[in-house]
Amino acid sequence: MANIKPVIVGLVMLVGAINNVIASPNCTVTIHSNDQIHWNTDDIKVSKTCEMFTINLIHDGHLDKGVMGHNWVLTKEQDKEDVAKAVILEKETDYINDDPRIIAHSKLIGGGQRTTISFEVNQLQQGQQYSYFCSYPEHIGLMQGTLELVD
Ligand code: ZN
Repeated sequence: MANIKPVIVGLVMLVGAINNVIASPNCTVTIHSNDQIHWNTDDIKVSKTCEMFTINLIHDGHLDKGVMGHNWVLTKEQDKEDVAKAVILEKETDYINDDPRIIAHSKLIGGGQRTTISFEVNQLQQGQQYSYFCSYPEHIGLMQGTLELVD
């Protein structure tokens, strides 16, 4: 009987080790936005062990997307201003154009709606600063954040 305790301790440690190996990194972020031109996330770290990264964008407000639309647009930091200035004219296509500097984007949603976007992590480079923002006119000032690839 004296041997049982070490065996159990060993078993617990083994299970713990297996859990650590299996536990996947968090490859999803959920962002809540509202009618006050606000979202609750201004910094996202993407683990390079993720194959795909997923953004869930939720609009907790009530206003229509025509007056309080939100989307999630990802560019390199240095491309953000140019891209944002150009897409603001694209009302017909919900403030998105086919600029290749847009790495990923969600669709535009209004109050009570949610949307999900996934993009391939191998498009990102470590050491590069990325930015994300809402491209609805005049929202970028209040709805933006930084994103980077980490170990
Ligand atoms: Zn917005």
